[in-house]
This record gives sequence, C-alpha cells and structure tokens, in this order.
Amino acid sequence: MTGREQGIAALASAVASGRASAVEQVRTAVNAIRQLDFGPDGLNAFIAYDVESAVAAAEAVDAAVAAGRGGGRLAGVPVAVKDNICTLDLPTTCGSRILEGYRSPYEATAVRRLREAGAIVVGKTNLDEFAMGSSTENSAFGPTRNPHDPSRVPGGSSGGSAAAVAAGIVPAALGSETGGSVRQPAAFCGVVGIKPSYGRVSRYGLVAFASSLDQIGTFGRTVADAALLLEVIAGADPWDSTSADRPVPALTAELDRGVEGLVVGVPREYFPPELDPRIATLCREAVERLRAAGAEIREISLPHTRYAIPTYYLIAPAEASSNLARYDGVRYGMRAPGATSTVEVYEATRSLGFGPEVKRRIMLGTFALSAGYHDEYYGRAQRVRRLITQDFRRVFDDGVDVIFTPTTPSVAFRLGEKVDDPYQMYLADIFTVTANLASLPAISVPIGRVDGLPAGGQLIADRWDEATMVRAAAALERALAE
Ligand code: GLN
Repeated sequence: MTGREQGIAALASAVASGRASAVEQVRTAVNAIRQLDFGPDGLNAFIAYDVESAVAAAEAVDAAVAAGRGGGRLAGVPVAVKDNICTLDLPTTCGSRILEGYRSPYEATAVRRLREAGAIVVGKTNLDEFAMGSSTENSAFGPTRNPHDPSRVPGGSSGGSAAAVAAGIVPAALGSETGGSVRQPAAFCGVVGIKPSYGRVSRYGLVAFASSLDQIGTFGRTVADAALLLEVIAGADPWDSTSADRPVPALTAELDRGVEGLVVGVPREYFPPELDPRIATLCREAVERLRAAGAEIREISLPHTRYAIPTYYLIAPAEASSNLARYDGVRYGMRAPGATSTVEVYEATRSLGFGPEVKRRIMLGTFALSAGYHDEYYGRAQRVRRLITQDFRRVFDDGVDVIFTPTTPSVAFRLGEKVDDPYQMYLADIFTVTANLASLPAISVPIGRVDGLPAGGQLIADRWDEATMVRAAAALERALAE
C-alpha cells in the first residue's frame, strides 16, 4: 500500500498499539447490527450474534495489548462468519430448520486462525439453506436485503456476509464458495470477494455441500482487506486432507506492484447476449483502465464455458445428496416429533427440516447418481469438467497471467423475482461456477454502478496464483478510483 496503512490493517495497528480499543470496535459493530438488521426493511444479515462473548474476546485482546503481548495482525477487527462455518460460541444453522439451534463441538480452522490473529467474531451471517442458492432467499430464517436497495437481494449464498460488509457493520467477513457464493454477492453488494484455489484454505469446520468444489472465501471493502483476511486463514491444516501443503504467498505484498507487463485475457464467451449491456460497458472501461495501467490485453476463448452451468448443477447436487444424508434426525440438530420407527424418523425429520431448494437438489443429485444413470450424468459431467479445466490450462500456458470477466450477468434482482424459477436463479452463476469447476482462484471487484446498483468485475488466475490475482485486482481498484 502506498503511504500509510488503511482498512483493517490500520485498524489492527491502532488496536495493537493501544491507540484504539478492541472492545470499542465490537460495541460499534453490535450497535450497527441493532440499528440496521431488524424491522421490516432491516437487512436480516445476521442469524445470531452474542454481545457477551464478543466483548469478552475483545477484552482479552485489549488486555494482551496492555500487557505488552501485542495483538496480532487482525487485533480487534470485528468479523462476521457465514453460518455454515462452525464456531464454538454461537450456533451453526446453515440457514436450515434441520440445524436450528445446533452448536458445533469444535471450531473451523479458518475461524480459529482469525481469532489467533486477534479478530473478533461478532456474529453468524445469513445464507441460502446449506449454501444452495444465489439470493439468500432460501434461508429458513428469512431473506437478507441488499443494503443498496432493500427491495433487492444481496446475492447468495453468502448474502448475509456481503450485506454486513457493504452496510459497514463489519469491515470483513468469511463466506463460502461452491459455485460463486462469495463473488456473486460481493458483486451485488459492491464489495470485494475472494474465492481461493481449491485446497488453499482448510475446510475443517465448513459444513460440506459439494466436497470437490467447496472453499471458504473472504469479503472486504477493499482488495487489501479481503487479501489480508485470506492470508491469515490460508495454509495447510492437518485436520483437512484436501488442504494443500504449499507456502502461502504474502498477498498483501502484491498490492502495490501494478499490472505493467501482465497479460490480461478477456474471454469472448463471457460477453453473451444475456449480459446486461451496461455491465458490458463497465467491463470494457475496466479493461481499458488495465491497459492504461500497463497491462497487455488479449482476447481469448474458453470454448466449453457454455456447458458450465449444466455441469455444475449436476456435480454440486450429486455431491450434496451424499453429504446431506447425515441429517437424519439421529445425530445432528432437530428430530421430528411423533415418529416411531427409524425410517419414520428419517422421513419426518428430513421432510420437515429441509426447505424446497435443498429437497430439489437432493432429488436431482440422487437421481444423477442412481444405478444405471451414474455414468450418463455424474460421469459425463466430470468429463466436461475436465474440458473446462483444460480450456483454462491452455490459456495460462499461452502466457495469460489473469483473466478478466464480468462477475454476474445482471445487477441485484428484486426479492421474489426468481424464487419460483430455479433455472433463472441458476443462470445468475453463469460467470462464476467455472472457477470452482477448474479449482482456480477468483476475485470480484466493484467496477461501477448501473442505475445506482453495484456491478462487479472478476479476475481469475491460475491455480495457486492468488498473488497475481490480488496484484491485478488492486491495480484495477486503484485505476478505477482515479
Ligand atoms: N448459487 C450456487 C448454488 O446454488 C452457488 C452456491 C455456492 O457457491 N455455495 O449452488
């Protein structure tokens, strides 16, 4: 960063040096929740918060600072955590009736690392049930509203985290990504959202949705903030065998490097007729800014992009149908009353506990995996997934450093607009699911507004190259601010 620190790094320095207090930060965040989250037009971004445990954690940070023990890189920074990530001091519901009031006996590694760095978890944020959705309307606890316009959705499934950051309740938050659930709401809410490479962040304590795709991601108001949060949570973890044993790049050291000499690929398949032309215009302007900042712009092709939605919506439900088999009324969360036999317990609990979208996914996924159809559906989707991955491989091998695309085909839509049309809802993920299918890191950055509503631009980098992704994103952010 040029000159002095800003954002959460500056806040943490102030707390760590005793110029600001962690308790004060937490009280401000909690007051903001109380002011903004409730009532008919309230955001409903939070499912739970607990003032006492947050204040106690903040007091511990302030005490450590006073005792000369320092405070950590995120000292006193209030954060919100998506409610499919396990925490010890608050329930973990996944936005589902079936886990209402459920308390995890352990904490996610990502959350533990945030706390060890001095961050304070102030609350758990709303989401589409089990992270299935693109609007946060599939939550059993009511929809979240977009802070830019309460009649609109914040995107999803991490809509609560995106809205909480956009409204200024917390400066940063955790979300999760299976197919765009951090980047799409980041775009709709006008904040920055990062989906790391598959394997970059431990998923220990992230409730499983589709295990070959799931990753924890970060939200911030700026690239620097989202990158710092990622740097803190990233890295190998003995509790998650899918976390990669690779050194974590110093992402925050990339922020000022600029894009001079970088090759930015712009894939023609990401500018289809369905894309709002006003977002296309903002994208073209963003690309011109990158060019002016010294990047070489190259038109590229990712020919299998058109198969991404059907591929994702086979693989994700198939894996979900298997992962969600564990909610049987015996081991976790609620059990439906009145059932007498084991089968009745399963049936009644799952009928009562799951909402319509989760049931739809379980049915789709169970069908796709059933005897005789497994190869026809799941097997074929896996083969197409490989083709999508190879598209990216070819482009990066040809010397492209980072790919620029729109994040979403439209700006935030109205609450209720797509709930009855799952296919239209699935199309909201058209530009984001590819990075998940190909295990690549990707970021969404605000690139301007359409009718007062934020639009996002996406940068996708090669696997493990979060450094170049952050470098280009920070340069874009600066160029757009000029
Ligand atoms: N909208 C996508 C879905 O409904 C993405 C979900 C996610 O990334 N968790 O599956």
